[in-house]
Amino acid sequence: MKILIATHNKHKLTEMARILSPMGYEVVTDTDIGIELTDVEETGTTFMENARIKAESGCKESGLICIADDSGLCVDALGGEPGVYSARYSGVHGDDEGNIVKLLQNLEGVPDEKRTAYFACAICVSFPDGKEITAEGKCHGKIGYEKRGENGFGYDPVFMVGDKSLAEMSAKEKDAISHRGNALEALKEKLKEQI
Ligand code: IMP
Repeated sequence: MKILIATHNKHKLTEMARILSPMGYEVVTDTDIGIELTDVEETGTTFMENARIKAESGCKESGLICIADDSGLCVDALGGEPGVYSARYSGVHGDDEGNIVKLLQNLEGVPDEKRTAYFACAICVSFPDGKEITAEGKCHGKIGYEKRGENGFGYDPVFMVGDKSLAEMSAKEKDAISHRGNALEALKEKLKEQI
């Protein structure tokens, strides 16, 4: 069965394909099937609303089962910010460096015990008959004081789990504890019931 992944983020593509392919799904992107998905505006106020907007739009445009995710960082001392605005926190979409600078500035003077945060990931699978399956995952940690490590992307260099930042972990180590890894595992169980 074909499943369309509504993302051009290579990192997300690989992670999702790793879970879905062994389940018998043929994972395809819009390019693979010769269409170009509309880059829909993420107008939701929750991660799940945004995941649903992308999955429903992809399903409608392709006629295929479509999977989409939305994720971000929620920092307790900042009242849950940057949340759904994680990718554009600094004002420029996808400016990882600028986002980290702004985050560390906003946390200046905040003591260790109050630097708690979590990554959240919402996944939505839309079916052509209108059905949907959703799953969520979280990864808890703390915001550090400076960038550490070279791996990963986004806020990974300042997100500490224990004494390591996510950017200091291998892909395998991160997958085992990450919000996206957890959401995908939960999704896998729900999809199994579906098959
Ligand atoms: P989106 O799900 O593509 O909208 O991503 C939202 C933003 O959240 C990304 O641009 C990153 O800044 C951040 N983010 C989401 N997942 C991760 C992660 O695993 N590590 C670091 N940053 C992440």
